[in-house]
Amino acid sequence: MSIGGSTAERELADLRPWPDPAPPIGAQERLARLARARALMATIGAEAIIVGAGASLRYFAGVPWNATERLVALVLPAEGEPRMICPRFELGSLEASLGIDAEILLWEEHESPYELTARALGGARTLAIDPALPFFAFNGLRQAAPDVALVDGAPVIDGCRMIKSPAELALMSQAKAMTLEVHRRAARILAPGITTGAVRRFIDQAHRALGADDGSSFCAVQFGEASAYPHGLPGEQALADGDLVLIDTGCRVQGYNSDITRTYVFGAPSPEQVRVWEIERRAQAAAFAAVKPGVPCEEIDAVARRVLASEGFSPDYDLPGLPHRTGHGIGLSIHEAPYLVRGDKTPLAPGMCFSNEPMIVIPDAFGIRLEDHFHVTETGAAWFTEPQVSLEKPFG
Ligand code: ZN
Ligand code: ZN
Repeated sequence: MSIGGSTAERELADLRPWPDPAPPIGAQERLARLARARALMATIGAEAIIVGAGASLRYFAGVPWNATERLVALVLPAEGEPRMICPRFELGSLEASLGIDAEILLWEEHESPYELTARALGGARTLAIDPALPFFAFNGLRQAAPDVALVDGAPVIDGCRMIKSPAELALMSQAKAMTLEVHRRAARILAPGITTGAVRRFIDQAHRALGADDGSSFCAVQFGEASAYPHGLPGEQALADGDLVLIDTGCRVQGYNSDITRTYVFGAPSPEQVRVWEIERRAQAAAFAAVKPGVPCEEIDAVARRVLASEGFSPDYDLPGLPHRTGHGIGLSIHEAPYLVRGDKTPLAPGMCFSNEPMIVIPDAFGIRLEDHFHVTETGAAWFTEPQVSLEKPFG
């Protein structure tokens, strides 16, 4: 049985940490990232870049910290040693995770980290800014270094992060394979009356048992009409016979994300559910088939929409139809540049990774989303996880 017939206890009992885990990102790869960042800095005339805490700091320096009001940042000059800005009381934690050679500059609680950063620029006159740096940090820097030109660092940061290395692909393959296994087991624990909360708790425990960084990184479980809302409805629902089940969840491995959606029926599907599910499957397959290096990102979204429009759905965002973009880049952030959306003209290139999820929403009735991820290859695309086989047998 692929839907129902088991229990959470039984499905958790034989889960073990993932065998053959993919190796973490190594020192050599981080050096190559810094070199690429410097090459891209030259193309925008930046003499240094500042990267604040968050996914990009993890990418360049290995430090897995989230941004707070206290400035933690990497200053990478075009020439010379990288510098870390860090509160003094956090030094031990920083040293324990820092993955690059860097000079560490410390500030005390009452001091200005922005003046310290201004001194760390080493005379750079043009500073590229991490676009994820909070405005208060940008503003602090602007005041502490009034003579330095501040420019958008996105071409440097996205330019590095959007092309994934084989090591990154391996970490994401593992995360996605783990999440698909969790999906498979979640379908088996379904029973009449089970709540969305109980399924979410199982999914978190299963991700933990497989060795994900911190359980589920997110989890949406939607039954019946709630599936018509791309990010669900508040409150708990209990499963009833004939309900559509939409589950979207993911985890992280060494910070790299998975994010997979499956939609199927608990019980016998209606003819309308079968019809719409089949159109969804075709839209997802057409988007995948259109992927080739050089094709602009927006074209993949357009291809999915053409399938929907040929079946009478809206070619735009109106319902019934696809109310959001077809897909997002993924890596250390669950949503990152570039995007499969109208207006994003970034040419696809080998190593880019995307979700493919051209959801169909039928208002006040149900929604169907199939979400799998692919990476761009030299000749086309390769799936991380094979798409759902059928509405009745979601896992083959
Ligand atoms: Zn998702
Ligand atoms: Zn997604």
